[in-house]
Amino acid sequence: MITIEDKKFVPFIERNTIETRIAALGQSISQDYEGKKPLLVVVLNGAFMFAAELMKNIHIPCEITFVRVSSYAKTESTGQLTEVLGLKESIRDRHVIIVEDIVDTGLTMNKLLFQLSTQRPGSIQVATLLFKPSALKTPLSVKYVGFEIENRFVVGYGLDYDEQGRNLDAIYVLPENH
Ligand code: 5GP
Repeated sequence: MITIEDKKFVPFIERNTIETRIAALGQSISQDYEGKKPLLVVVLNGAFMFAAELMKNIHIPCEITFVRVSSYAKTESTGQLTEVLGLKESIRDRHVIIVEDIVDTGLTMNKLLFQLSTQRPGSIQVATLLFKPSALKTPLSVKYVGFEIENRFVVGYGLDYDEQGRNLDAIYVLPENH
């Protein structure tokens, strides 16, 4: 068990299991994108560790870049807007793979997909380390999923609780009766 601030987390997915699964995702991407030089668009901060491990397991020519997503409410009627920050290179005609740490409601990914697709990439797919299918609030197609998990709060392997825990080399979960 580990403690971060006021919360206690228990082991959930161990390092070897994570790395074996990411190696398989890298293998699939290497096959699917042969001759296409994919561009990994990594969503900071949480996906940095997954992206590093994933890229080491892609054995075809590929590139990487990083974005941040900021959510803000412009007016009450428009609700939450999402802005993609930091994408300097053109993705026009590129084969883009968005790399995320976790898809929860899917709302962030949905907006990101919409924003990036307006720049007319050659193709666009999503790779996420973790996916909570029961939390999904919008239809979303996620091609590369590390692990489907139940709707509980997790930390480690890049994911934070109050900006801490990102350095953990395994994934931990908040117990149900915390
Ligand atoms: P969504 O728009 O899919 O609901 O939100 C995705 C974002 O919420 C993720 O990129 C992540 O920052 C955060 N998030 C969702 N679930 C978890 C979780 O269980 N643990 C952590 N650390 N972050 C989460």
